[in-house]
Amino acid sequence: MSTAIFPGSFDPPTNGHMDIIERASAIYGKLVVAVLNNPAKSNMFPVETRMEMLRESCKGFPNVEIACFEGLLVDFARSMGTKIILRGLRAVTDFEYEFTMALMNKKLAPEIETLFMVTSAENQFISSSSIKEIAHFGGPIEDMVPGPVAERLEKR
Ligand code: ADP
Repeated sequence: MSTAIFPGSFDPPTNGHMDIIERASAIYGKLVVAVLNNPAKSNMFPVETRMEMLRESCKGFPNVEIACFEGLLVDFARSMGTKIILRGLRAVTDFEYEFTMALMNKKLAPEIETLFMVTSAENQFISSSSIKEIAHFGGPIEDMVPGPVAERLEKR
């Protein structure tokens, strides 16, 4: 059974993330959505809440598991026994960062591959940071995030 890891900040999860999760869960035997716990980064939601939102949003995908990790992604991938790191690509602007990170991870762990899945056209403009900004000013976000995320953003 092939397992892939989909790592990220997910602060908060968006329909862009959900699109990748849905499509990847149809390809891999198991998909581990791995939330980065980076205390140095100021996140809107603590890691437990980000995991909770993902768990609730991924209820319909039985082969999707929600986890969190600290430290090097390749160490986490090794601990999960997987050789596939999956990342989403929105635009050319994502490319340079993703390319550098994929090469660095390859240097650190040559047996692990980074694979990219291109966003669906309707999600191309969605990012966690724009969602946070819109929500901050009370704008409508319901169409761009899963229900459990919209609920929490509206409460804030
Ligand atoms: P990170 O801080 O690691 O980039 P994010 O939560 O922003 O964490 O993104 C996690 C992954 O989801 C990344 O691979 C990113 O490219 C992908 N992603 C984010 N938004 C979208 C979107 N709208 N469509 C497709 N992939 C996306």
